[in-house]
Amino acid sequence: MSALPPLREVISRHGLSASKALGQNFLLDEQLLDRIARVPGLLEGQRAYEVGPGPGGLTRALLRAGATVTAVERDRRCLPALAEVREAFDGKLIVIEGDALDLDEAEVAGAGAHIVSNLPYNVGTALLVRWLGGEAWPPWWASLTLMFQQEVAERIVARPDTPAYGRLAILAQWRCDARLAMKVHRSAFVPPPKVMSAVVHLVPKEAPSGVSAATLEKLTAAAFGQRRKMLRRSVQSLPGALQALERLGINPERRAETLSVDEFVAIARAMYVRA
Ligand code: SAM
Repeated sequence: MSALPPLREVISRHGLSASKALGQNFLLDEQLLDRIARVPGLLEGQRAYEVGPGPGGLTRALLRAGATVTAVERDRRCLPALAEVREAFDGKLIVIEGDALDLDEAEVAGAGAHIVSNLPYNVGTALLVRWLGGEAWPPWWASLTLMFQQEVAERIVARPDTPAYGRLAILAQWRCDARLAMKVHRSAFVPPPKVMSAVVHLVPKEAPSGVSAATLEKLTAAAFGQRRKMLRRSVQSLPGALQALERLGINPERRAETLSVDEFVAIARAMYVRA
């Protein structure tokens, strides 16, 4: 590996002034980037997939950790800087120019890749929902290590009976172990965003049997669509939902935020069996 110039120099040489529209807040601190790259565990000889490498700070950290990286970047201004990284790491980096939302990611990144990304805020949740969704499980990826605004990160790992608990927590936790790996101060970014950030780490676990992801999604959408209301009201229009509550002995006067992830899964299973 040949030496690369500091990221600050790369940004100024390639004129990478941060674009708000593209959710650009760059990380330049190599120690911090190395810590993020350690979150998924040992990456030596592993595949990593990164959305939005920008000037390549996290990309370099993943490559330093020994991964082979596929990265997709929408901003073509970043491509020359990324070409330098590719050269320095003997071609262990593949860069795709384009929108991550339009890609068949399993195809480009390869099955078993660890997804590691400081996500652009404007598409971060949409990508997460896509990675966590679908009926097929285990997914094509091995783990997710993702930087979000702290408020979104807290919703992903939230426990019942807390204000942050809702659809995102259930979507993330019903067939993944999800944890908040580290908080990152806003001052670590260039330019600093208005809010704090945090890295979440999700690892797929065995999916509960007999549960349809689509049914669970409809159930949580209805239940949290009116989170202040009793379940009896909020899920009444879903076929089989009230009967499922009765069969499971779940009090229909409870509100969505008091139900555990396991209880939501049990209701969805009972609804699906009936359907
Ligand atoms: N990884 C870099 C870092 O940590 O310093 C940059 C992170 S910055 C928060 C988000 C990056 O995602 C930007 O480089 C931006 O151009 C890119 N981006 C925004 N929307 C994208 C999309 N739909 N597909 C791919 N990349 C995107």
